[in-house]
Amino acid sequence: MKRLMEQIGETVKGRIAGAGLNPLENEVRKYILTEFARNGRPPAPEGIMGGLNLSSVDVVNQILEKLQNADILTRKGGEIISAYPFSASKTLHKVIFEDGHEVHALCATDALGIHFMLNEDITVLSRCPQCSGEMSVIVKRGRIDSYSPQGMIEFVSNRELGGCTAENLCPFINFFCSREHLKEWSELNPGYKNGETYSLNEALEHGRTIFGDLLK
Ligand SMILES: [Zn+2]
Repeated sequence: MKRLMEQIGETVKGRIAGAGLNPLENEVRKYILTEFARNGRPPAPEGIMGGLNLSSVDVVNQILEKLQNADILTRKGGEIISAYPFSASKTLHKVIFEDGHEVHALCATDALGIHFMLNEDITVLSRCPQCSGEMSVIVKRGRIDSYSPQGMIEFVSNRELGGCTAENLCPFINFFCSREHLKEWSELNPGYKNGETYSLNEALEHGRTIFGDLLK
């Protein structure tokens, strides 16, 4: 049987394949991801129009609507608030690039996947949902260079796969600083306790599989 994170990964990848994007729509999708990574925040519709020399903001908004309907991004009041793997608002997972600028990732796997999407060395700083303690993972050249604390693991709650992944699923894909803290958290959050636990290397491979091709 497929592991939970593999099923989730196929759902995410299938959305892009299933959206039937034309070349321009796909260009807009990639532009949003590239700008999100570069600036740590999503481009505004006007910025997308200018950046890609499009004729009007209406054209941009129509494409954003299609991307939103395909659950490739989410919007609020016309502005992008998330685009897998990035979040415009603060999450438990911060990714720091080599030049020091930062972006927030929607979930633990997304944070690691950013390395493969951009082919850039990153440091992931993440907070344990149980104790709020900080954990760090340094990813270089496709491998985990170092991490702390040594007991940290990833836990993926087995939630309903339908609907908007950013809202339903991502908040329950987290690193925990130890198995003990995952156990304590599960006892306090019985509705989310069913799921699978992964080592950091397993989580890294999921990130590679899901996000490695996203800008290709
Ligand atoms: Zn903890």
